[in-house]
Amino acid sequence: MNILVINAGSSSFKFKLIDMNTEESLANGSIERIGTENSIFFYSGGLSKKKEYEGKIDDHVAAVKMAIEMIVDKDYGVIDSVAEICAVGHRVSNGGEKFSKCALVNDSVIEAIKDYSSLSPLHNPHNLAGILACKELMPDTPMTVLFDTAFHSTMPEEAYLCPLPYEWYEKYHVRNYGFHGISHQYVSESARQLAGNKATHKMVICHLGNGSSITALIDGKSVDNSMSFTPLSGIPMGTRSGDIDPTILTYMSKKLNTDCQMIMADLNKKSGLLGLSGLSSDLRDIIAAALNENKRAACTIKVLIYRIKKYIGAYAAILNGLDCLVFTAGIGENSPLIRELICTGMDYLGIALDHHKNKSINKSSEGFIISQDKSKVRVLVIPTNEELTIARETKKLINRSAAEISQ
Ligand code: ADP
Repeated sequence: MNILVINAGSSSFKFKLIDMNTEESLANGSIERIGTENSIFFYSGGLSKKKEYEGKIDDHVAAVKMAIEMIVDKDYGVIDSVAEICAVGHRVSNGGEKFSKCALVNDSVIEAIKDYSSLSPLHNPHNLAGILACKELMPDTPMTVLFDTAFHSTMPEEAYLCPLPYEWYEKYHVRNYGFHGISHQYVSESARQLAGNKATHKMVICHLGNGSSITALIDGKSVDNSMSFTPLSGIPMGTRSGDIDPTILTYMSKKLNTDCQMIMADLNKKSGLLGLSGLSSDLRDIIAAALNENKRAACTIKVLIYRIKKYIGAYAAILNGLDCLVFTAGIGENSPLIRELICTGMDYLGIALDHHKNKSINKSSEGFIISQDKSKVRVLVIPTNEELTIARETKKLINRSAAEISQ
């Protein structure tokens, strides 16, 4: 059973074909700068079948067409025809309060994604463009959507309600939704497999990438997430500010004599690590500059660590303790330094890092424990795999639908 997973953004498009009998990736690729003269296409069908292309790729339909043509190509392809793709699973940002699990794409799901575009204008319309492109090119293939908000539908009222006029929630759906749910779901399931249910009863997962979020979980279920109404809030990210006092918005729009939309664009694109360091949104550049005695770079790292610790502390408070702390995504998986800085001075919580294990983890592993055996809190590193979660949920849904039809 082959499932194609698609993650369509505004100008980017990522795909992965997974054989769900083995859960092995057969092919994957990405397209960047869609709609420009110099779009780039990368494809890999295993080690020997690699292809790159630079040129104009007009839109999402052209992107999907290119991906499919490559997957079935006689030289570079990994399957013979589109008929060998059983289903397509799409990642979508916000499913509002309606979707708590994977859903089959039909007209009402498409309408819901459109409706929730006002809540997630930077993501939902582009995710939908990917779905519509697939519908046009593969009309007979079943399709599913998994929302980034769905995993957080277990958050209790006290976590998802904002202290604002209640009518804003009732009439305009203003609440904390939580994001990165697909990654947090994968990591939570893997952590429970690796460390067992008892050692992961009260868990905090730090997804630290270009976009970052922290989730508090009880028994594998999300009870809070640092991204709230949109993915702009929470801890500082590559270019996003994370939590700030909203008054800064009106204050800076007056100071810069501009409108709030421009300030919002700055909070999304010019803040976070990039804004603070003035150097780069990539933490590797900032660490290199800090090691080179760049004071602003060193200060940026301090702010990042400080704010991550604040969330871990707050979540340990609402969980009434902590059994397991997990790191994932680009920074969480690859930076022993950041993991070490976060875990330093957390002995009051019972975190005792094994410095050697932290520095010498095996990248090919599904996950590893980097705390000392005596540590009260297990500290884990789990490489995330959002595509596999979408494919697993899609497989479950397709099998369930087939069983219902045959009854
Ligand atoms: P996205 O949120 O776009 O999926 P990733 O999870 O791939 O991003 O994370 C990308 C980020 O991970 C990069 O911007 C970089 O800052 C960070 N990163 C990757 N490797 C390292 C490393 N060895 N040390 C520090 N940061 C790293």
